[in-house]
Amino acid sequence: KFPRRPMGLSAHILPQLQQPPTVMRVNPNYDIVDTKPAEQGLIEIPRKNIKLTGELGQGAFGEVYSGLLSNVPMVDGDLPVAVKTLPPVCTEQTESDFHMEAVIVSQFNHPNIVKFIGVCFSHHPHYIVLELLEGGDLKTFLRAARPKQDQPSSLTVLDLLRLSLDVARGCQHLEEKRFIHRDIAARNCLLTTKGPNRTAKIADFGMARDIYRSDYYKKAGRAMLPVKWMPPEAFLDGVFTTKTDVWSFGILLWEVFSLGHMPYPGCSNEEVMTLVTQGGRLDPPDSCSLAVLSIMIACWSSVPEERPTFSAIISSLEKSLQSSRGLPVIYAPPTISAGG
Ligand code: ADP
Repeated sequence: KFPRRPMGLSAHILPQLQQPPTVMRVNPNYDIVDTKPAEQGLIEIPRKNIKLTGELGQGAFGEVYSGLLSNVPMVDGDLPVAVKTLPPVCTEQTESDFHMEAVIVSQFNHPNIVKFIGVCFSHHPHYIVLELLEGGDLKTFLRAARPKQDQPSSLTVLDLLRLSLDVARGCQHLEEKRFIHRDIAARNCLLTTKGPNRTAKIADFGMARDIYRSDYYKKAGRAMLPVKWMPPEAFLDGVFTTKTDVWSFGILLWEVFSLGHMPYPGCSNEEVMTLVTQGGRLDPPDSCSLAVLSIMIACWSSVPEERPTFSAIISSLEKSLQSSRGLPVIYAPPTISAGG
């Protein structure tokens, strides 16, 4: 069984989007095709102030570039930025999705969520300008930090706890804003730098963006859903709440402490849905303390209301951080258990 209809969709919409945009009154599917970005109050950056300097990767819409932004108030010199681009030739739907992504990211202002800087929608190709997060995605970073031959992991348990706390704080901000992310996972977090002063930030809002589409159900077929990160009520009944994100955060915690392993190794999405529905859960990674394990277990309660709040998760992680020593992470390939 897969999501049949959006459960309580209106409760998941950003509060800011519930009121003014005319589209809400005009179109019950929350489609913003006819809404001009300027009406959303997005900051328009003059194109002449943006210089593209290199390629960062391919996004869902188009190429993502690194760049330099000049003439930024209160900033000496140029500001390094990431520039998401929309190909000049695209459908209205794609353009609307791209604009929606800007609207969503612009709602947040938190050290653990990628900073929105502005847009350049007055010329083609359209740009979304974000702070540059140079350390790459969290999953790739963790995998690269696994021990090699005679070398221990370059990361300590303290590093893992700090990274987890960063993401938990970002999630708490989303929780406060009553925003349901729907795709909390290591691949969707980026790092400011790979070095010891790194900060992890939630940087991808693609899944939340897609629920605004009028053809969401066509797009959200089996392959589109991050089943291994989803709680039973989400993949069985299409119910998404902040407690969905709490479950996913538990999986992210497992990804962090297993140094970037794929959850439920060797299992198909179908098998995971059966396993999880019957009470099966991931086994703790070797480097995981009892305290961290108990957070994971709590995040994976079958009863959504019994899952902790992000504030409670942050408190537990902070306590663990205070009592942990900087030992290198122990790494062994993970296993799964079939029972409760
Ligand atoms: P989309 O969500 O449109 O698919 P992504 O967010 O996956 O695009 O970005 C595509 C590539 O650009 C990825 O390799 C990602 O790491 C990189 N990227 C995206 N945003 C930033 C950013 N703010 N700073 C640095 N790199 C970024």
